[in-house]
Amino acid sequence: MNQGIPKDTFSPSAQLSVRNVTKVFHGKKDVFSRLSGKASTDFIAIEDISLDIEPNTFVSIIGPSGCGKSTLLNMIAGLAPTTAGEILLNDVPIKGPGPDRGMVFQNYALMPWMTVEENLQFAVQTVHPRLTAKHIQRTIKEHIQLVGLTGAEKKHPHELSGGMRQRVGIARALAIDPQILLMDEPFGALDALTRGFLQDEIERIWEQQRKTVIMITHSIEEALLLSDRIVMMTRGPAAHIDEILEVPFSRPRNRETLDQHPAYHDLKAEMESHLFRETRAVEAARISGR
Ligand code: ADP
Ligand code: MG
Repeated sequence: MNQGIPKDTFSPSAQLSVRNVTKVFHGKKDVFSRLSGKASTDFIAIEDISLDIEPNTFVSIIGPSGCGKSTLLNMIAGLAPTTAGEILLNDVPIKGPGPDRGMVFQNYALMPWMTVEENLQFAVQTVHPRLTAKHIQRTIKEHIQLVGLTGAEKKHPHELSGGMRQRVGIARALAIDPQILLMDEPFGALDALTRGFLQDEIERIWEQQRKTVIMITHSIEEALLLSDRIVMMTRGPAAHIDEILEVPFSRPRNRETLDQHPAYHDLKAEMESHLFRETRAVEAARISGR
């Protein structure tokens, strides 16, 4: 059985504030647009998004493919700058990546030549260079145990299943003890069963640690199982927030009984109709060449 990590060893959870954020990708002029006199190929991905996320809150972001979810998350991670507006973490503007944010990627992004424990060690050492070797070893052991990978410490990523690789990704993100966990479709590449197991693991770990989490997902059921709030984004270009749903289910949550809650089916229907409407509009625009 996986063990928890003592509560007093965590960093406090973060408050995040996205203020009037716009992101424009500046395209290069191609030959055709130069000849045809087209002024610019700038692309407004997201426009004037504001969002406040309280500490200890699990927030999911859903929206049609290509609407700008990863763009927003990457700016929160500090991997890309905002074009306008600012993002504050505990009232401090984000200027780049930092030890206060841990990221889990859909494609795991592990170092293929490193073992499981080396992947964790590299991350912890890079983010916290002053920690003693003993402290680092203890942190690695605890987090490998937390995600149920004890026994796989010496394995390389190619020796692991997709689910196990993503367990390493989650352990690595948590081992640096971030104040906020950012996950970009973390289970998108996994089969349904493995996905379910990992969702349950995330629910269990979140119960213990209650870190602020922002997770992008395409799965309505996943968002309903894990989130306190669900941010629904419109289609792009110039995507913005359409609506934020409050998820009222008590915790700990159980996937078997969740749909017995009186609000479950209404919330699900609302999300389905939002995604269907926005995706249909994207398709219509594509067909008409707009
Ligand atoms: P999502 O994660 O919601 O699927 P993205 O955030 O990846 O969407 O992309 C949003 C939009 O911005 C898309 O139209 C995409 O093509 C565009 N985009 C993303 N990154 C870049 C970039 N580096 N340069 C130009 N356009 C980009
Ligand atoms: Mg994306």
